[in-house]
Amino acid sequence: MKKHIFMFACCIAFCLSIPAAFAQERDSATTMRSVEFVKMADGVWRHISHVWYMGEAVPSNGLVIEADNELLMVDTPCNNQQTDSLLRWADKTFHKPLRKVIATHAHGDRVGGIETLQKHGIDVWTTPLTGEWSVKRGFGAPNKAILPNDTTFRFGKFTLRVFFPGAGHTVDNIVVWIAEPRIVAGGCLIKTAETQSVGFIGDAVLNEWSNSVRKVGEQFPTASVVVPGHGAPGGTGLFQHTIAIIEKHLKQRPPKK
Ligand SMILES: [Zn+2]
Repeated sequence: MKKHIFMFACCIAFCLSIPAAFAQERDSATTMRSVEFVKMADGVWRHISHVWYMGEAVPSNGLVIEADNELLMVDTPCNNQQTDSLLRWADKTFHKPLRKVIATHAHGDRVGGIETLQKHGIDVWTTPLTGEWSVKRGFGAPNKAILPNDTTFRFGKFTLRVFFPGAGHTVDNIVVWIAEPRIVAGGCLIKTAETQSVGFIGDAVLNEWSNSVRKVGEQFPTASVVVPGHGAPGGTGLFQHTIAIIEKHLKQRPPKK
């Protein structure tokens, strides 16, 4: 009997550990090329790509929105290769072109695919400030019209609103509202419930962040889904969750000398 248990244990160990080891190797090789897609509502998809941060592949969110004859994307995947993968997926899935991209701030996980988009003649829309920082950080210039800080427009059956609530994760972070099905693409201004960390704050304006999130909450109190920059989407509770993370960080921060 003991022998059987031992053999069984060995078999389980083999079955779990060997393929897991292979999977790990394969994952690290493909993570930076692949993009995943999750349907959120009729005509709205979340795209998930990965960015390296502190030695880990962190999932990053953007959206793809479908109209009758074209597609619009909120934020590029994290690099040009991933953006290529996304374009191939879009072509195969919808058989219609991606024509417009709105980037929500000038970091690699939002504008890292600009070169690929421009190679394909796809317009990248940002606020003037994001355009400026995108060039300064070496991602390239958004090529097309510049959105003012609060703009509403139609895209197919959707009403979209681009809103700048004030500084937070960066000085230029904007959010995108899809009126029906009431989705807010919060970008990196908003934190997932899965984290208690402020994340990368090298370009953040910590003292204004909470207030900017509050403004997003006031503008979109009826949101059914709030999509953070990284990790799982949630409801409007993510606004309060983000504010709590920022306030806690501010309290714990050593006083300036
Ligand atoms: Zn960022």
